[in-house]
Amino acid sequence: MIAIESEVFVEGIAGEEIFDFLLDPTDEDYQRWWPGTHLCLHALERGENHIGDVFFMDEYIGERRVRMTGVVEEVERGRRIVWRVGRRVSLPVRLTLEMKDRDGGVALRHTIRAGFDGVGRILDPLFRLYFSPQFAADMDEHARTEFPKLRDLLSGSPEARGASRPASIQNGRKKSGRQQEKGQASTSRRSSDFLRRESHKVRLNACRKSKSMNTEKAQRLTRRLEDGRGKRVVFLSHCILNENTRYPGGACRGCVKEIVEQCLDAEVGMVQMPCPEQRAWGGVTKRLLLALYGMKGTPMFRLRRILLPLIVAYTRLVYRRMARRTAKEIADYLDSGYTVIGVVGIDGSPSCGVGKTLDLERSFDSLASVDTASITAEKMNAIVRRNLIVGSGLFTDALEEELRKRRIKVPFLAHDLIGELEGEKSSVDLFAAGDHSATGTGPPSRGG
Ligand code: SF4
Repeated sequence: MIAIESEVFVEGIAGEEIFDFLLDPTDEDYQRWWPGTHLCLHALERGENHIGDVFFMDEYIGERRVRMTGVVEEVERGRRIVWRVGRRVSLPVRLTLEMKDRDGGVALRHTIRAGFDGVGRILDPLFRLYFSPQFAADMDEHARTEFPKLRDLLSGSPEARGASRPASIQNGRKKSGRQQEKGQASTSRRSSDFLRRESHKVRLNACRKSKSMNTEKAQRLTRRLEDGRGKRVVFLSHCILNENTRYPGGACRGCVKEIVEQCLDAEVGMVQMPCPEQRAWGGVTKRLLLALYGMKGTPMFRLRRILLPLIVAYTRLVYRRMARRTAKEIADYLDSGYTVIGVVGIDGSPSCGVGKTLDLERSFDSLASVDTASITAEKMNAIVRRNLIVGSGLFTDALEEELRKRRIKVPFLAHDLIGELEGEKSSVDLFAAGDHSATGTGPPSRGG
């Protein structure tokens, strides 16, 4: 179990004011609380006396953007609120805010607890990847900064720069959420929706104008500085260029020479995508994955029906972030007028498979059953062959989804891992994609 705790004393505010604000927020008030850092906080569903209220929150903690859905599990007015993270998939992560009124202010304790008790502690390293020491330090600073700002906002103090008092407290002390909902909520929501739309339009127009000026300048300079670049790139799974990140037993050589040679011959730029398993599973040796080997018979193995969905949910979360960055990079090439010949994945990989992936449940059981004393690369690869199924890997799924959202179409090709393990040359033909490769013509054009 991981706990990240911050304590702060805030003068000039009472626990009930914070309590009422947090359980009846609007995006507008939340943004005024800490402009640029707080992005969204609003209720998605209401429960009984706040228990079961579902909130969506979007904010920056340090450099990291945190978006989460939280369900209220416990409330004690003016004293305590506990949110559980996750709505459909409930995660073992809880956020608790405790408030104690003292002379002239309130003492706050803000705690994030993540992970399981007992044997489930074996999963702590997974949570530590997300709740890193840097995140803990950023969270502490965030909590110490935001509550004095909330006091300023609620008291209408001038320190709340440019922030007018929340609509909900303009006429005196903030009333409880339920009372407000009956009276002013619909009117204030309509007017704040209107204001939000209007300010969004203004920002959008200003942004378009400056973007088009920058684009013209960039195009002019690029024409003047014309050089020898081929303006064609291919996005390659990390281990095509560096097999050192493959699972132990799955590397055959330094890189997939046949694909690299095609790029060299055709003067195509090779963009190496991140290795998803390296990032999510504990580095080059994927030590978190290795922890599963031979675990059959342990108490953790008996929890596998709970464990596996959790592992998959965590993996999808990390992969989604990576996929977003990769899709953004592809969009950047296209917007800059380059051709993206395609994305080359690895068939047989549970992460980067395009047409073939692994059955996760069966693979989990197979890995848990290996005899760690006698396992060899050959036996490991036999497990991979046995668990092969038709379908795409988790990272490929996430990348396709991100590209779809941006309405970008690029061909996906696959290098066959199993064939390579059997000594075959890669059959990937980068240029068979021909006309299907995505070509950008500069902003705002996109493929497909
Ligand atoms: S297939 Fe994907 S996850 Fe596996 S080693 Fe290669 S890049 Fe990494």
